[in-house]
Amino acid sequence: MANGTKTGVTQPNLNCDACARLCSFRMENKSLFPAYFNAPVPSFGSINGEILVVGLAPGLHGANQTGRPFTGDGAGELLYPTLLKTKMAKGKYLARPDDGLEMTRARITNAVRCVPPQNKVTGAEIAACNGFLSAEISSMGKLKAIITLGTVAHGAVLSAVGLKKSAFKFAHGAVFELPNGILLADSYHCSRYNTNTGRLTTKMFEDVFYNVLAQVNG
Ligand code: URA
Repeated sequence: MANGTKTGVTQPNLNCDACARLCSFRMENKSLFPAYFNAPVPSFGSINGEILVVGLAPGLHGANQTGRPFTGDGAGELLYPTLLKTKMAKGKYLARPDDGLEMTRARITNAVRCVPPQNKVTGAEIAACNGFLSAEISSMGKLKAIITLGTVAHGAVLSAVGLKKSAFKFAHGAVFELPNGILLADSYHCSRYNTNTGRLTTKMFEDVFYNVLAQVNG
């Protein structure tokens, strides 16, 4: 199946072989961790959500294990409580896909749907997966804002909507209005690395979400 091209398809098939490196990593993980999901991780939340949160890529023992974005990843320990606190989701986050957590206003996806070695994606992999992100954005009929977690997600969203990265420079806390009227809000990625080093605090992260809510609620 075509991938980086704009097919209108929001989800790669589970055996997507668009990226040789990610495919061979998946094969390795299938034999090392046979009980894991080990496939492109689908977006989570309704296509009718008003807010799209875009991450980088699944973590090996988190989303790649559970099959739900950020679920079981260190980054999910900050993202899901923030979504619950801001009422973009309801229920309980128990780091398991069967925890019953419901996304009420938001949807979560990743710039690259497959787990990459060492958590690092290549430009070619971002490009190969970009058609799916583009389809997500155009299929979300009620979309008002996109929250990008980190520079990779920020750049991937701009490419997905056909804009140059130089037109909107990433900055934590920045909010841009895209030509299609949708808001683009930037946050540092909520990775353990960023929270442990103090680059991103819980307050800094929550402020981005509250700010988006204030603008979406008008
Ligand atoms: N897990 C995800 O699904 N995405 C990220 O960006 C990080 C962890």
